[in-house]
Amino acid sequence: MVFEGLAEKLQSTLQKLKGKGKVSEKDVTEAMREVKMALLEADVNFKVVKDFINKVKERAVGAEVLESLTPGQQIIKIVNEELTALMGTTQSKINFSSKPPTILMLVGLQGAGKTTMGGKLANMFKKQGKRPLLVACDIYRPAAIKQLQIVGGQVDVPVFTLGDKENPVKIANEGIKHALDHGNDFVIIDTAGRLHIDDDLMGELQNIKSNVKPHEILLVVDAMTGQDAVNVAEHFNEKLGIDGVILTKLDGDTRGGAALSVRAVTGKPIKFVGLGEKLNENSIEVFHPDRMASRILGMGDVLSLIEKAQANFDAKKAMELEKKIKSQSFTFDDFLDQLQQVKSMGSISQLLEMIPGAGKQLKGMDVDEKELVHIQAIIQSMTKEERQNPSIINGSRRKRIAAGSGTNVQQVNRLLKQFEQTRKMMKQFADMDKMKKGGKFKL
Ligand code: GDP
Repeated sequence: MVFEGLAEKLQSTLQKLKGKGKVSEKDVTEAMREVKMALLEADVNFKVVKDFINKVKERAVGAEVLESLTPGQQIIKIVNEELTALMGTTQSKINFSSKPPTILMLVGLQGAGKTTMGGKLANMFKKQGKRPLLVACDIYRPAAIKQLQIVGGQVDVPVFTLGDKENPVKIANEGIKHALDHGNDFVIIDTAGRLHIDDDLMGELQNIKSNVKPHEILLVVDAMTGQDAVNVAEHFNEKLGIDGVILTKLDGDTRGGAALSVRAVTGKPIKFVGLGEKLNENSIEVFHPDRMASRILGMGDVLSLIEKAQANFDAKKAMELEKKIKSQSFTFDDFLDQLQQVKSMGSISQLLEMIPGAGKQLKGMDVDEKELVHIQAIIQSMTKEERQNPSIINGSRRKRIAAGSGTNVQQVNRLLKQFEQTRKMMKQFADMDKMKKGGKFKL
């Protein structure tokens, strides 16, 4: 769950207020004390916390809130709005140049996740119809160039390099020439990092900046480092000037401090977040302050869920499926297909987190991803005929399927029963639809 500890504490504090018919100023003060502790524990910058609490309190103790019919809910709304404002209110987009190529420079300390993010961004923009080029300007870290070439290979995006003997400024310039000559409209420059900020590194990055004039300088920081990430961002912004921040490793055990402080401290927006070591679209997200605030408060993030579904959505398949449902010829093959589509959207627990209320209600319930593996194995152990026509699956076939899938007969029985129920339900929907169209059924 995103920022698990923080989310839990904020939700339980606010839930207490929501349950009250009447809320006094004292209740608000008490709740804000708890919110303050939760934010400080999540490693949010002290000054940011203080300002946040003052703003919420000022708005919450107003007569129109306390005397309203639903004071608790109004306060939750205020907290939600102020959390959103803290993270920048609206989504900050990439500034695409009207004259291609758009040049994006990735900077950050070693290990923050620059190279990985370069691959994720290249993949994401390629899917959006751009023609990216990755440029390898880290000539110091052994194997950095090789790593970028591997990343580029994985997402099928070209990588420009002049080896590790040339000056990074020259590599960047030549890379842009290469992009112009080869029709690449989006250049991502991967720069060197150091373990700590040092003047040499800053000097080199400033040189690249003044020569190449990137449209975007994005600083990659590791969210797991909390306040340190914010300090790094402040420093890079002072010395180099950045346009935005990318927070990586949000899939890990991050407390949330960096995400909630970086915008307020540096004035620079978070543009993307990294959610895993893989390079696919499930491991990167465009950062939306409002959606993040809703997730922290357990209000879900239905919009991101829909977007994920759309990214994995195959319109042709969906039409075929609809036809099958209507003609009642939905089979185990279709079922398996559906299962695989859902699984390609990411881990089930990540998806659940985006459903309003689900994160909290299902907490503690271990979403058994193994169960899905079993279901898949059972279906795969059926013959083609059995998948098309499950009614022929008698006792001995059930035994064979169980043995073939490494499950037991009860599990096979359960799946068959669930499948039958699903089919029945689909039939009912299809009938209802028919009746509606025939005018016999009015809603
Ligand atoms: P660079 O030195 O800044 O280029 O960092 P790398 O891209 O080499 O990443 C450093 C390490 O962090 C690698 O082991 C990556 O697999 C890992 N990493 C990068 N981004 C993420 C992320 O979003 N989540 C997780 N869990 N690991 C990440």
